[in-house]
Amino acid sequence: MSSKNVSGPVPFRQLGKSIIINNISPRICTYSCVYCHLDKPPKIIMYRCVFHDSNTLVEETKIKLINAQANNESIEYLTIVSDGEPTLDVKLGLLIDRLRPLGIKIAVITNSSLLHRADVQYALGKADLVSFKIDTLDEKTWRKINRPHNIIKFDVMLDGICSFAKKFTGQIVTETMLIKGLNDDMIDIEKTADFIRGINCATAYLSIPTQPPVEKWVEPPEEQTLKQAYQVFDNRGINTEYLIPDSAPAMGVVKA
Ligand code: SF4
Repeated sequence: MSSKNVSGPVPFRQLGKSIIINNISPRICTYSCVYCHLDKPPKIIMYRCVFHDSNTLVEETKIKLINAQANNESIEYLTIVSDGEPTLDVKLGLLIDRLRPLGIKIAVITNSSLLHRADVQYALGKADLVSFKIDTLDEKTWRKINRPHNIIKFDVMLDGICSFAKKFTGQIVTETMLIKGLNDDMIDIEKTADFIRGINCATAYLSIPTQPPVEKWVEPPEEQTLKQAYQVFDNRGINTEYLIPDSAPAMGVVKA
């Protein structure tokens, strides 16, 4: 059986080998980021709904695990990451419950926009690792970069991240995408680093657009700026890593 919704195993970011589970329909998000790698801007919604049958996703995941075992591949994570926002899936918590007996750690990669909701916090609380997107602490810049649904309130979203982080017993990592001329000035980066320091994350990842962005004018920052951003995070005692493929032109030079 092959599926568009369950794929891998593949090396996923710094999590090691993952089975990738895409739990929502393509291009459905709460944001429409300027750097989005999707070929068209997503449809922006705010209501949670059912996209796929969680039993089917679990059965497809089991087949991937059996195949991996047959190939002597060890899997570090079942990673729920979508071509959109995975917390829009109202059955996310149920999906995690049903994946749990497979005995592999479960990660969810979210843009953080629904973290203020108790039902989303409850569902994410079942995961072993949650990755938050935090691109900026400046509301105007957030609106320019992430282009959120207009009912999302910036302060409420940030409060949601903080309240979840206080309760969560798993691992938190953050991802900050740096864009030339939008969020790459040091004052903005210092504020972002201060916020991330406060949520006790295991690792803060700094990334740059490496796939063709939906907005063609989007550019990565200068190498020097990336180095400075790393230093700003590192100086605050944050375990910081670049999240940039080796194939990206800047990486060989700036990797710390
Ligand atoms: S949150 Fe992710 S999927 Fe949604 S618009 Fe931004 S980059 Fe694209």
